[in-house]
Amino acid sequence: MHEHPLLAPLNDKQREAVGADERHMLVLAGAGSGKTRVLVHRIAWLIQERGLSPHSIMAVTFTNKAAAEMRGRVEQLLGSSVRAMWMGTFHGLAHRLLRAHYMDVGLPQNFQILDSDDQQRLIKRTIKSLNLDEKRWPPKQAQWFINAKKDEGLRPHHLDGYDINERTFKEIYDAYQVACDRAGLVDFAELLLRAQELLRENRHVREHYQRRFRHILVDEFQDTNTIQYAWIKLLSGVGQETEHNNYVTIVGDDDQSIYGWRGAKVENIHQFLRDFPNVLTIRLEQNYRSTNNILTAANEVIANNDGRLGKELWTEGASGEPIDLYAAFNEMDEARYIAGRIEQWNEHGNALQDVAILYRSNAQSRVLEEALLHARIPYRIYGGLRFFDRQEVKDALGYLRLLASRNDDAALERVINTPTRGIGDRTLDIIRSGARERGLPMWEAAKQLVHEKVLSGRAGNAVKAFLDLIDQLEDETADYPLGRQADTVIKSSGLMAMYESEKGEKAETRVENLKELVNACDNFNTLDDVIEDDMTPLNAFLAHAALESGEEQADAHQDAVQLMTLHSAKGLEFPLVFMVGVEEGLFPSQMSLGESGRLEEERRLCYVGMTRAMQKLVITYAEQRRIYGQERINRISRFVGEMPPEMLNHVRLQATTKHHSPALGRFHSGASHQAFEETGYSLGQRVRHTKFGEGTVLNYEGTGPQSRIQINFDDVGSKWLVVAYARLERC
Ligand code: ATP
Ligand code: MG
Repeated sequence: MHEHPLLAPLNDKQREAVGADERHMLVLAGAGSGKTRVLVHRIAWLIQERGLSPHSIMAVTFTNKAAAEMRGRVEQLLGSSVRAMWMGTFHGLAHRLLRAHYMDVGLPQNFQILDSDDQQRLIKRTIKSLNLDEKRWPPKQAQWFINAKKDEGLRPHHLDGYDINERTFKEIYDAYQVACDRAGLVDFAELLLRAQELLRENRHVREHYQRRFRHILVDEFQDTNTIQYAWIKLLSGVGQETEHNNYVTIVGDDDQSIYGWRGAKVENIHQFLRDFPNVLTIRLEQNYRSTNNILTAANEVIANNDGRLGKELWTEGASGEPIDLYAAFNEMDEARYIAGRIEQWNEHGNALQDVAILYRSNAQSRVLEEALLHARIPYRIYGGLRFFDRQEVKDALGYLRLLASRNDDAALERVINTPTRGIGDRTLDIIRSGARERGLPMWEAAKQLVHEKVLSGRAGNAVKAFLDLIDQLEDETADYPLGRQADTVIKSSGLMAMYESEKGEKAETRVENLKELVNACDNFNTLDDVIEDDMTPLNAFLAHAALESGEEQADAHQDAVQLMTLHSAKGLEFPLVFMVGVEEGLFPSQMSLGESGRLEEERRLCYVGMTRAMQKLVITYAEQRRIYGQERINRISRFVGEMPPEMLNHVRLQATTKHHSPALGRFHSGASHQAFEETGYSLGQRVRHTKFGEGTVLNYEGTGPQSRIQINFDDVGSKWLVVAYARLERC
């Protein structure tokens, strides 16, 4: 019937989308309904059936990994390379645009990307240089302010600064931007904003790309922000004086919009329908990912949100097992339980890489890691601290960046006295203010100050030696392949020696990481997808180091469990999923509790988490948890209450002998929940004692007359009491 191989593995609705005439299209559908699959097949279809060149297609994905996978899938379907196709994240594509048109936007050719950490440092210095009090104007808040404004497309002069807060942050934004421009640095939000300004202000550039990109396709559209939307619209030519035959396809799910806190606007879906003419809207309703139990429970949870676009989602698949719900005593018990479950899974011949542990906050991973280590289960953290964000790696990259661009103030600040070479804070301050006064990058200012003997004596010599070192390193390594260049720089700068002379395991890891960086340079393939031919290998590598979002670490070959936040699990799927820490105050997060909009976003996150699971979902929560350095007693998350009870299986551990388990740390393990319930008290319950006052039930052990209960009293702290004598009142 549908013999076309690109359409055969699709359902009717999917076929309609993939084979549609060239027009604007919205594919709106719930999780696991094949939106991403449609995008892949659509691209292949356009090339194969419509005869489009890959050159005329741009596809936007949420992560670099997703982009690489998508390219691979398309190539597999077509049996040919699609290198000419632009495919990547918004940031990656913006970077590419800016590189090609750096002059039009007033950037130096070798401009560098400022990551979020370096951005914060630079903002901190800016605040200091403005003589503002850092306590009153925290760098983190200023960073948040600046990025939020940029995401909305606002420059300092767009801000009115009515009140003192806005006025001051505006002043910081302004000074920070001047510093960035002087140093040829572009932060993440700036990549998007500059690229948008480029397209808006330069008609010839805009029209060039409008002619080129006949089709633009965007995955996970519900999480685009204002600037990203503006970008797509500019490239499409819609609403402009000369319209082109360009078509935009967006796929998304309003129920999976989880980046509102970072400026994403789910309303962009409505905006798209208003701005673009003649949109074909397709809804996919069949889910191919999850068992019916998982899907139904997820649907029930998300049904509690208001103002949804509304979607039905069903599956032909089996009902599957119920969702397991485990109530842990504390986070260590939780972690240990999970490790145990994974061991079983593995013993039954299942792969570890088919397992994901999803948590709300990165801070939860440490305890989980410990339990996995203890159980000797290999794991990988996806999106954790990136390799390129480690201190020693950033030091080395600092030198390399300075070789690539002397103007890079952030890099210069980082390495000028690492390892120590007698350039102290005072000297650095002189260079900083010299740079500000003269409107020069620090490198240039330092050079002048030494030349004019403003910097003289030991300090002057030290600075001169540093400047010479960098120049000489560049001369020496100019013709080296990348790996050798990095190796030489790491050694000649004294960085390697510095870390080698440090003691301890940590120092050893640092030395290994430096060597690994050389490896990474050796293996870096400049012909690889996103990297363009117009860059030097060094610049290409530096861009890669800044834009790679830590996903690659998860790609190593060993079979390993994957740990990640719920946010970074978007778009992925795993046979077995643990959703952990499902507690009020953690998930939904404390900050979302007072605001219905944010609470709904947490609920969408819950929906995203649940729908990652294909066969089995295990939900865990801890009645007591130490997190962010605080002990907390938690109630189970309201989201669990929103799931149909008949689909939940409350896991009860067998009552075992009461021994003190080291893995459980401060707690007695093995107390059976059932026995506990016999006392009529439950964990987390509030009680009153005649002498000690009010408190919360923490733990329980023993049976009958011996049974004891642990209570954390508000005034006197935690105590074990014999239940029979305690004469507690419930409150
Ligand atoms: P999410 O909202 O989580 O991003 P999605 O809508 O993008 O999900 P996909 O990841 O494209 O969904 O598809 C989910 C799973 O279902 C994948 O494993 C995919 O291969 C499979 N799938 C999609 N459509 C079909 C189909 N018609 N027949 C068989 N399997 C399908
Ligand atoms: Mg998808």
